Amino acid sequence: MTNLKLICPIAGTVVLGMSLTACNQKNGKESPLNIVYIMTDDHTAQMMSCYDTRYIETPNLDRIAADGVRFTNSFVANSLSGPSRACMITGKHSCANRFYDNTTCVFDGSQQTFPKLLQKAGYQTALVGKWHLESLPTGFDWWEILPGQGDYYNPEFVTQQNDTIPRHGYVTDIITDDAIDWIENKRDKDKPFCLLIHHKAIHRNWMADTADLNLYEDKVFPVPETFYDDYAGRPAAAAQEMSIIKDMDLIYDLKMLAPGKDSRLKDTYIPMLDRMDPEQREAWDRFYAPIIKEFYSKAPEGKALAEWKFQRYMRDYMKTVKSLDDNVGRVLDYLEEKGLLENTLVVYTSDQGFYMGEHGWFDKRFMYEESMRTPLIMRLPDGFSRRGDITELVQNIDYAPTFLELAGAEIPEDIHGVSLVPLLRGEHPQDWRTALYYHFYEYPAEHMVKRHYGIRTDRYKLIHFYNDIDEWELFDLRNDPYELDNLYGREEYGHLADSLKASMLSLQEEYDDPVRFSTATDRY
Ligand code: CA
Repeated sequence: MTNLKLICPIAGTVVLGMSLTACNQKNGKESPLNIVYIMTDDHTAQMMSCYDTRYIETPNLDRIAADGVRFTNSFVANSLSGPSRACMITGKHSCANRFYDNTTCVFDGSQQTFPKLLQKAGYQTALVGKWHLESLPTGFDWWEILPGQGDYYNPEFVTQQNDTIPRHGYVTDIITDDAIDWIENKRDKDKPFCLLIHHKAIHRNWMADTADLNLYEDKVFPVPETFYDDYAGRPAAAAQEMSIIKDMDLIYDLKMLAPGKDSRLKDTYIPMLDRMDPEQREAWDRFYAPIIKEFYSKAPEGKALAEWKFQRYMRDYMKTVKSLDDNVGRVLDYLEEKGLLENTLVVYTSDQGFYMGEHGWFDKRFMYEESMRTPLIMRLPDGFSRRGDITELVQNIDYAPTFLELAGAEIPEDIHGVSLVPLLRGEHPQDWRTALYYHFYEYPAEHMVKRHYGIRTDRYKLIHFYNDIDEWELFDLRNDPYELDNLYGREEYGHLADSLKASMLSLQEEYDDPVRFSTATDRY
């Protein structure tokens, strides 16, 4: 499509280089696009049938991909909730937005974010659900957030008036109800809107809606090929504390609460149960009681216990996804019913991927594939004919410039990300990025994943674990997709490692990341 010079009625300015897609044709009039940006927590692509058919059916998420595009090389910049959210809302790496980790950082809400820039372009902006940036949201005309991680049952919400309001019900339903209510009743219908629907689900400890508890109990899932990984040649991988076998808690994670039984996180689980009303609690106990009884009577050990934990984890996670998928369907149905779908970009993503037993793990953090990747699908509005897979390397810093370009707003030069709009138009830009930069900082902390940064190209990945360790890892993703064979230090891969280091250093310079390696001392 040829770029045209258009006047966007909302931005109110002449926008050079904007395509016809930015202001949609409707009833002969140009009308700006709306954006509905749905993001879940810890929802990995293995658990979406539009990406992976081994485990679960997600028909509503699949509708988004079927009426639009699926990104097959979508990644985050820092695989952890708060930092990932800060990257996506600023379009910048952690070193620039300065929200490095969940334990020590408070997001500086005075900095530039895409919702603020959309407001300047005439958009109405709203946020409902998980926020997790510690400071209160800025740049939204309306917001309502969960405090911290929030609760699955009868959660509290913090409102724009800074009140904490208790609500009754299951969190995924409530967030969806309030999102639809905002579109229907609270917004200014003369303005285009950008609504962020950010779910708590599918975060640990995967507490399903009571309506979904009985699902998937007859399923037995194949144990991943790397479930019994011995981490040979990867000391940083060996040092983590996110193993299903060793670290997954029988009571908090797997709900095996019984008289006389104790666990490290039991006291975290009990207040979650105490939030339930009598009806919810009765349904919960009715479902879990026979499983708890059978578990303690059989008392599996060793490999049998490991695989029992894996199966329960998979079932709980899938049930939590089921409610999410149903609720995404409600949003799509609502937009369709109101005639909004044709003029709205619907984005679905997660704050990062997650391990479903690969390498023996749950959780995320590592730059390895399962957690550096994140699902990204988009239902495209009228005017965008692109369908199917987009294979270019994209990252969560790209969402901000994408939304800005779609809104006809200028993309500030200090944003690190790149607009995905050319890809949505079906273009294949010759100068598209060939490598992604990654940096994880939260250590020492829960799960004990060491600090690391690295570079990923379409074929190779180089990682440097630093701080209280100094270990490099190099993987050939084509020949070793599970990242088991660390090639770093082998003479025949020396030139490749040097070349990846040079590319990584240039990205560290481009993004002005002060934590860098020295090419002189790290060369071998
Ligand atoms: Ca997360």
